[in-house]
Amino acid sequence: MHQKDLQSQEIGPEGLTKWLLEKEWAPCRYGCPVHADVRTYIEHAACGDWEKAIDVIREQLPFAAVCGRICHHPCEDNCRRGDLEDPVAIREVKRFAAETQGAAGSSLHETKAHTGKKVAVVGAGPSGMSAALQLAKNGHMPVVFDRAEIAGGVPATIIPRYRLPLEVTRIDVDWICAHGVELRLGVEIGKDITIEQLLAAEEFDAVLIAVGLSSSRKLPLPGSDHPRVHTVMDFLRDTNRGDAPEIGKEVVVIGAGDVAMDAARTSLRLGAEKVKILCLENEEEIPAYEWEVREAREEGVEFIKRRGPVGIQLADTGDITGLTARKVTRVFDNEGMFAPAYDDSDVITVDADTVIFAIGQAPDPGYGRGSGLEIDERGRPNWSPDTYQTERENIFACGEIVTPPGSVVEACESGKRAAEAVHLYLSDETIELDRPLPYEIDALPEENADNILRRERMAVATLPPEERRCSFEVIDSTYPPDTAAFESRRCMSCGGGAEVLVDKCSTCLTCLRVCPFDAPLVTDVARIPAERCQACGICEAECPSNAIVMRRYNRGSLKNQTACILGAGEETLVAYIGGFHASAAEWRGEAIEKVPGVAELYLTSTASISVSDLLFAFEKGAGGLIVIPCKDNNDRYPLTAARTARRVEQAGAMLREAGVDASRLQMAPVADRGRDAVFRALDKFAGEISQMSVNS
Ligand SMILES: Cc1cc2nc3c(=O)[nH]c(=O)nc-3n(C[C@H](O)[C@H](O)[C@H](O)COP(=O)(O)OP(=O)(O)OC[C@H]3O[C@@H](n4cnc5c(N)ncnc54)[C@H](O)[C@@H]3O)c2cc1C
Ligand code: SF4
Ligand code: SF4
Repeated sequence: MHQKDLQSQEIGPEGLTKWLLEKEWAPCRYGCPVHADVRTYIEHAACGDWEKAIDVIREQLPFAAVCGRICHHPCEDNCRRGDLEDPVAIREVKRFAAETQGAAGSSLHETKAHTGKKVAVVGAGPSGMSAALQLAKNGHMPVVFDRAEIAGGVPATIIPRYRLPLEVTRIDVDWICAHGVELRLGVEIGKDITIEQLLAAEEFDAVLIAVGLSSSRKLPLPGSDHPRVHTVMDFLRDTNRGDAPEIGKEVVVIGAGDVAMDAARTSLRLGAEKVKILCLENEEEIPAYEWEVREAREEGVEFIKRRGPVGIQLADTGDITGLTARKVTRVFDNEGMFAPAYDDSDVITVDADTVIFAIGQAPDPGYGRGSGLEIDERGRPNWSPDTYQTERENIFACGEIVTPPGSVVEACESGKRAAEAVHLYLSDETIELDRPLPYEIDALPEENADNILRRERMAVATLPPEERRCSFEVIDSTYPPDTAAFESRRCMSCGGGAEVLVDKCSTCLTCLRVCPFDAPLVTDVARIPAERCQACGICEAECPSNAIVMRRYNRGSLKNQTACILGAGEETLVAYIGGFHASAAEWRGEAIEKVPGVAELYLTSTASISVSDLLFAFEKGAGGLIVIPCKDNNDRYPLTAARTARRVEQAGAMLREAGVDASRLQMAPVADRGRDAVFRALDKFAGEISQMSVNS
């Protein structure tokens, strides 16, 4: 338990403040390298609000569509739902939201007034484009140069189309460019123009190098200059451009990282009959992600482990006939450093007519030509991870040219931080980037997990391996809208739950009594540790001292929406509907038949509706109110229908006392039975109300 006691004067008059919501982060947000607010966008997606979902994603992640397809999703590794079954499929939900909305369907970020400063960004990959966006937001004029004819870096030019179609990368690039980012493609820095010329002749105020790792490493083995020996980056780049290099029927890929898996699977799609991965590592040491290895195996790729290449064998005709490989006795030394050792007495020949080196990427140091920068033997500039500056104060660097090879999302984070550094430099301020992060909420305690509804992760439709291996068709499908919403409803809203205003708490134990998850701890006052709370809002609705606030929503929001609807005057009947089983269309109010005169408001659950919420609708002039919960134990929270019934009964008694016909307040627990059942309940309710006299 991290949080310190909360006092009522610390929260604003509206209750919810951004500060309260940001007090502790859900583990998913911690796991994400850009710290995207996963919980919030998943909550919007759960309500079918894709517009809000993508806007929240893009607050931190410019490459939302690309990451929706190919991110290695460290957020999911941290997701607390994984302690119960499988983590929430965060990436798949992001994929749906980003692609449904497209570039035009995401709001643009505010850009500050022009500063008149120009920044040249070299490289239109994830790091360069993210930096350019951030620079534009800060009012500068970013111009992005890339030697490729398309923007997007490795995702656009190298990653195979069966994993990432080009139009998906275009969504992100177009959205970034809409902020005033200028692209100059087909311009190679160091060849067509130098960094020095950008600074002098073109009058840029700063340059940011984001050239990534465009080349491949290769071993100088006998035979390695044969035309059927390829390096992985060229092999994949040429294939993506529609100019696939010649390969034979038996391909050996040297290396077992993710890039090697792409090379092996691409070879199958280009017509190879047999594809083998030859690697130094044993099964446990294979560096590629488990799912990349599994998918490659499913498609028929074989693995030859613990072997190191010695030479490429050629026939008298000059054709490749095989690859000789020696036994590997160890890959890492006792300190865990890469230090392979071999047994030269144990050498095999692997049949092959084509060899692809996939043993790592390297920079192409040409960018530094004529810049006056010192470029080391690995092709990298001198660089400070604190300021992102090179040895020249107005030349910065970010992304994989300076960081270890990683992922798109990490490159985005690097670009954003570099842009902040450039901005501070251009503003004549000291470059200081690190700020403390909020606390991460702890693991789910076992004793609080019992009553949480279990729900299996929604599957993604995938092509069968025998179909996959023959074409560059995308191998898996985007979730349909309802699946995206239902999967999102598996999220437990970690860190978005209840907090006690300790100065208001009268230690009446109500929260402890009503909480279905035994979350509150009561000593001198009640306290609700974030890791125990499931954010259902029941205690907040029941607390007699109004001593509980919810981080993830404002108690007033249901009342505000109700007042808004009734104020508009078109509908006088209101329905509060538990939306746990409702389709995205129902939540969005689209493509469904409605009962005239009834305004439908969907909630995550009706469990959090208070008596005061129910009475408020009548105060605002509602002619009737119907609450439609899910049946008990078929809702996100336990006993919701019973709780809702009790509150409807209490509110009904108060209406009667006030001389209002209590049958104007009704309940029908059918929300989990589908739209027809809900429609019938609404229709019946509207019919009954219309029979009542106006004064009753
Ligand atoms: C085969 C492969 C598969 C991958 N799969 C995944 C994956 O599934 N998920 C994931 O998250 N990450 C993946 N990655 C990693 C990811 O692509 C990188 O982390 C990311 O692209 C790095 O971004 P960057 O901006 O630093 O560099 P890059 O994306 O490399 O962009 C650099 C840009 O600079 C340009 N450039 C270079 N030199 C010059 C010059 N002299 N003048 C002008 N322009 C120049 C290049 O043309 C390029 O467009 C993969 C990488 C590879 C190689
Ligand atoms: S359950 Fe939801 S809030 Fe909790 S870690 Fe997973 S995605 Fe994040
Ligand atoms: S919000 Fe729900 S889970 Fe959290 S303490 Fe209150 S009643 Fe318990």
